[in-house]
Amino acid sequence: MFFGGTVAHENFHAVVIRCQDGRLGTVNAAWLTEMQKSGPVDDISVPGAIKEIVDWYGKSWWRRFLAGVLMSFGLQISLVMRGLEVAVNLHGITTIYLQAHRDCGAYNGSRAFSESITEKTFHLAQIKQAAEIIRKHFKNPKLEIHLKWVELREHDKWEIADFS
Ligand SMILES: [Zn+2]
Repeated sequence: MFFGGTVAHENFHAVVIRCQDGRLGTVNAAWLTEMQKSGPVDDISVPGAIKEIVDWYGKSWWRRFLAGVLMSFGLQISLVMRGLEVAVNLHGITTIYLQAHRDCGAYNGSRAFSESITEKTFHLAQIKQAAEIIRKHFKNPKLEIHLKWVELREHDKWEIADFS
């Protein structure tokens, strides 16, 4: 197998922020392969990726405070945001895909919700908050943020769709 090649930064296509959950691995591999036809895609895969952004930048004052203090020393405490800074500031990417999924362990899975619609609505609120945080953080009007939901179908089959 050959890896390599030099790609100009302006040719990057997009950055994906997703949960590392391996059950979604096959569907995400296919999705990423399709997108990579338009150029390299930065792939940020972290447990409960959306939650990590919301935790550090929205949830509690002391976390926001700590993140802010470290940032004033040039340190980024959020791994997801650090990856995003590379994608946007170094690779010049303006297309961002945020992805959340059904039964995410970072939120104690589907069992934490009484109904499946409650779970999806909760994730939509989280992902919208993360998008808002990202917009505020980069202050780049060119950023296009797409929200994706990965749904669990029967027999452990996963499906990526727009959040609606
Ligand atoms: Zn997850």
